[in-house]
Amino acid sequence: MEDCLFCKIIKGEIPSKKVYEDEEVLAFHDINPEAPIHILVIPKKHITSLAHITKEDEALIGKIFGVINKISEEQGFKEDGYRVITNCGKNGGQSIKHLHFHILAGKMLGEKIL
Ligand code: AMP
Ligand code: ZN
Repeated sequence: MEDCLFCKIIKGEIPSKKVYEDEEVLAFHDINPEAPIHILVIPKKHITSLAHITKEDEALIGKIFGVINKISEEQGFKEDGYRVITNCGKNGGQSIKHLHFHILAGKMLGEKIL
């Protein structure tokens, strides 16, 4: 989608520090990390947010969680643990309107609200 920052990253028009890539999924380091390890995992298909997922996207979303598991192994934080967050819409504080999952790791995470 034009004018979508993450679509531009997928197309290589904006650089990113890639962690994982296949034909459907891309993962890269967040530019403004909130933890020692802060990775964003996104579908290459433009989906605006969790609220915009359709039935046909469900396999892709399942796959993303498999990719997260694989990244945690490869990057060495599977055992110590991590947190996955997706901000959805205005009240969820979503700033980039392309579905993304934050992986936060590398320290004891604070501000636990649930
Ligand atoms: P959210 O607030 O959930 O929409 O998260 C958007 C995230 O994208 C933030 O954590 C930003 O730091 C991150 N971000 C913004 N621009 C870039 C970029 N060019 N490369 C990597 N991460 C980015
Ligand atoms: Zn997009």
